Amino acid sequence: MTMPALQPANWLGLSSSHLSQIDDHHALLAPAKLAWLAMAKAAAEDGLELNLVSSFRSFQRQQLIWDSKFNGQRAVLDDHHAPVAMETLTELQKIHAIMRFSALPGTSRHHWGTDLDVYSKPLQQQPLQLIASEYQAGGPQFATWQWLQQRAHEFDFFFPYATDLGGVACEPWHLSHAPSAQKVEAMRQPEAILDAIINANVAGQKTIAANFDTLFERFVSPISRLG
Ligand SMILES: [Zn+2]
Repeated sequence: MTMPALQPANWLGLSSSHLSQIDDHHALLAPAKLAWLAMAKAAAEDGLELNLVSSFRSFQRQQLIWDSKFNGQRAVLDDHHAPVAMETLTELQKIHAIMRFSALPGTSRHHWGTDLDVYSKPLQQQPLQLIASEYQAGGPQFATWQWLQQRAHEFDFFFPYATDLGGVACEPWHLSHAPSAQKVEAMRQPEAILDAIINANVAGQKTIAANFDTLFERFVSPISRLG
């Protein structure tokens, strides 16, 4: 399965022309889609239903999330799941608080079509919050996490946010299809991302631009290679 040729608009999430649809709500790059379907089949054979929370997410969708958090219209939570008093923060502090849990538009790995968020619907009695404790011992998705840790590597998936490296918080549900993601990662150009942020008038863009290199180094580049 070869990778389609990608333009910056693809890895920026501005175009979905590189993707293959999975169902009405989800699309991935063809090699990642095949790997996902094979993994879900293997899980089903082990009695575990795997479901997608998120797959491809567009720049526009990421900007809606970003702008509403930056402007105080959507809650930003801290590491203890308590709301952050955004009105008391400087613009840079707001950006740091958001980037702990939500990517800056243009930098999300969900733009690539290589990354997905996974849970098992039948195991989830309460609404899914996507918090790490749901995937830890005693949580409803612990069996999902255990299965993924044992088997996901067979399908070339790894966990870029399985470890808190001080930027993005721990996200055990986030899987990345390594062979596809490595190719997209190699194409990524920070300058093109900043151009897209300015063109789209993303909230806080002046402060983002003034601090772009350090934001990138702290929240975008560091990932766990745990497979
Ligand atoms: Zn994710």
